[in-house]
Amino acid sequence: MIHPTTEQPADIVARLRATFRSGRTKPVEWRTTQLRRLREMLTTHGDDIAQALYADLGKSSTEAFRTEIDFTVREIDHTLDHLSEWLRPESAPVPAHLGDDATAWTQYDPLGVVLVIAPWNYPVQLLLTPLLGALASGNAVVVKPSELAPAASSAMARLLPQYLDTDAVALVEGAVPETTALLAEHFDHIFYTGNGVVGRIVMRAAAEHLTPVTLELGGKSPVFVDRDTDLSAVAARLARGKFLNAGQTCVAPDYVLTDPTTARALESELARAVEDLFGTEPQHSPEYGRIVNERHFDRLSALLASGRTVTGGAGDRAEKYLAPTVLADVAPGSPVMQEEIFGPILPIVTVPGLDDAIDFINDRDKPLALYVFTDSATTRERLAAETSSGGLGLGLPLAHLTVSDLPFGGVGESGMGSYHGRYSIETFSHRKAVLSKPLA
Ligand code: NAD
Repeated sequence: MIHPTTEQPADIVARLRATFRSGRTKPVEWRTTQLRRLREMLTTHGDDIAQALYADLGKSSTEAFRTEIDFTVREIDHTLDHLSEWLRPESAPVPAHLGDDATAWTQYDPLGVVLVIAPWNYPVQLLLTPLLGALASGNAVVVKPSELAPAASSAMARLLPQYLDTDAVALVEGAVPETTALLAEHFDHIFYTGNGVVGRIVMRAAAEHLTPVTLELGGKSPVFVDRDTDLSAVAARLARGKFLNAGQTCVAPDYVLTDPTTARALESELARAVEDLFGTEPQHSPEYGRIVNERHFDRLSALLASGRTVTGGAGDRAEKYLAPTVLADVAPGSPVMQEEIFGPILPIVTVPGLDDAIDFINDRDKPLALYVFTDSATTRERLAAETSSGGLGLGLPLAHLTVSDLPFGGVGESGMGSYHGRYSIETFSHRKAVLSKPLA
């Protein structure tokens, strides 16, 4: 793994392409060796990685292991368990006009050299999960961690070359200039996680080379809470999902939609749930994270005036601490409802009923996730059928992305393409159609 100051993007890509052309990355043994080494890196250096995540985001060790390190290890194990089965060619029926002796099948071909661009909020998981999917598919890979999580970025730059085949995996650290230079190169797939503005830049650059892209973006993920639901249980699950990583999670519940009576009752339950999680002084809770930088702290602080504070509202800029906050009486036109919050503020917006909630969701960009709390099967079915979102969580936020056999990805403004488990193989391979007919 060579640092960009000594090796230019064009040279890195040429070097990795030569490795790919040599055929080295294709055998399943090479792929599984890389995955095992990555696993060894995570288990051996888990504490170092957790420390880096604490330095960047005030992430507690428990959270770092649960949502980044162990998460990635589980994904590796799942892939190792199933890779041969996933890669098996699939036969297809042959039409009669081709004769009895013809056979047809599909097989997965690796794409070549893949670029993975990662964000800062889960800087390890969101770098390594696409990487392991690309390696399992037999590709050479360039990874670009986010410059906004510098400790995690340098930990990855230090550790990955000690474990992975450096002729097939390169890490480039850097910000916009370095990423722009990388994007000028010809890759066979670009996998980008981050915001939609940069997603458009990535897609434009990819179009120059007709390179396919996966865009894992974000947006406002709504929560619908039905009347007559167990609000104490709803609040406990919502607070856990929302305030994980101080709300800086792409699939975090962004806002709550409910009727005015339920909203009133939910307010106090949410305040209690926050206290159960982080005590009366969340600033001193070892389990509560920090905002990534001052720019985001200031952006979030400006949103606090968008409603009546139910709980939280306090901040400490020097520590980049923003209290877990619930806002009530929030108008749809208020600043907090204009863009993805990506921080520890949960607004409650009221609607008269289910039809209005469905309209509210459909009037806006398709979200990365929709969460629904209701005891009614009809309500669940209506929301599933009448709205579109990357994923749907019934009764539990965030957890769908921990199911390796589910595709994780967005739709519309929340992204395109998906990954995890076998869907990573779909993303990082070409499914080649093969027809075979003997001459005699
Ligand atoms: P970020 O600022 O770290 O940017 C992401 C990557 O893009 C970084 O590697 C960065 O260097 C690169 N980048 C930034 N500007 C660039 C430019 N002009 N040209 C080329 N590359 C550039 O992260 P972010 O975008 O602030 O991340 C937050 C967003 O990501 C949120 O919208 C969130 O919902 C979304 N997100 C989505 C997922 C998902 O899996 N769908 C996961 C995490 C975050």
